[in-house]
Amino acid sequence: MNVPFLDLHAHHAPHLAEFEAAIRGVIECGAFAGGPYVAAFEKEFADFCHVRHAIGVGSGTEALWLALLAGGVGAGDEVITSPGTFLATAEAITYCGATPVFVDIDEQTYTLDPAQLEAAITPRTKAIIPVHLHGQTADMDPILAVARQHKLLVIEDACQAHGADYKGRRAGSLGDAGCFSFYPGKNLGAFGEAGAVVTNNDELALKMQTLRDHGQSRKYHHSVVGWNCRMDGIQAAVLQIKLRHLEESNAKRREHAAFYNELFHDLEEVILPTEAPHGRHVFHIYALRVRERDDTIRQLTEAGIGSGIHYPVPVHLQECYRSLGYQEGDFPVAERVARELLSLPMFPELTRAQIGKVAQVVREIVSAAVPA
Ligand SMILES: *Cc1c(COP(=O)(O)O)cnc(C)c1O
Repeated sequence: MNVPFLDLHAHHAPHLAEFEAAIRGVIECGAFAGGPYVAAFEKEFADFCHVRHAIGVGSGTEALWLALLAGGVGAGDEVITSPGTFLATAEAITYCGATPVFVDIDEQTYTLDPAQLEAAITPRTKAIIPVHLHGQTADMDPILAVARQHKLLVIEDACQAHGADYKGRRAGSLGDAGCFSFYPGKNLGAFGEAGAVVTNNDELALKMQTLRDHGQSRKYHHSVVGWNCRMDGIQAAVLQIKLRHLEESNAKRREHAAFYNELFHDLEEVILPTEAPHGRHVFHIYALRVRERDDTIRQLTEAGIGSGIHYPVPVHLQECYRSLGYQEGDFPVAERVARELLSLPMFPELTRAQIGKVAQVVREIVSAAVPA
């Protein structure tokens, strides 16, 4: 039995007729860039996130960039984030002309460690981007308290956390703005590239609506220099359908994670993902920590089991950020975790038999490994 890392075919199969009808609708009304489908999806996604505004854009990367720009982040500013994230979080900071500053992660949740936040703040600090990694939110209350004290903007990177909760509140609704990616493999994925920013701040929302459409306050009247970050109509039509199934899909991911945990509970060679008491994890990624990771991946591949690494190189050690001057050893937790994390197959349509097979193969591999 082969088990893929992700099976989008299985995820889409039950709704193909609905997708086709929705896409035909977009073709008939010609609303390809922005338009009524985007507006309808924005309303539904804002409701889902329990916020007043959602602004549909072209990707999660654009969502982060626009939120920072609208928040006034620019040249000379510093923005604090986690080194344990996808590069886009830091790229968005750099593309505003600002400098990313990293704070190590918590060893349990792999999200920004609030205890180390204060020490990274300087007079140039303008914003903080906590990253809700793997589907679990950062510990937001202490982060928000520090931000309030120093008057810093908080932009959540919720690109992996659609529908996750923190103390009963939705990921994305906790800071000044929350950024989402609808890349196809995310918990809520489009049929291509898409993203959104959510916010309760009317002024930020208006700025982002203007910026994403060439800074137009009305057609061909440009009040500021913006960019083209509009969402496609077809993506919005597909996302409207998929949003209706998101809660159910997240519940299935949680069931699968619980089943993996049960099958691995006595396996001493691995560290299981933890769900912090502060929230509801939606398991975009189910990652174990293993010692001999590369060898484990090789053997999983040979056994027909897909896997991934999220992420192998922490952002502060990426070649593109060499000029920032960070070194190995600067963020020991993020570095250790990056060496050990191994993502196993995780998608809503995974069967119990598939999870059983993955668990059995992982047990065989890690039990047989000669201790380093
Ligand atoms: C996917 C992702 C992004 C970028 O989203 P895109 O839609 O691919 O641009 C940013 N941050 C995190 C944590 C992500 O997982």
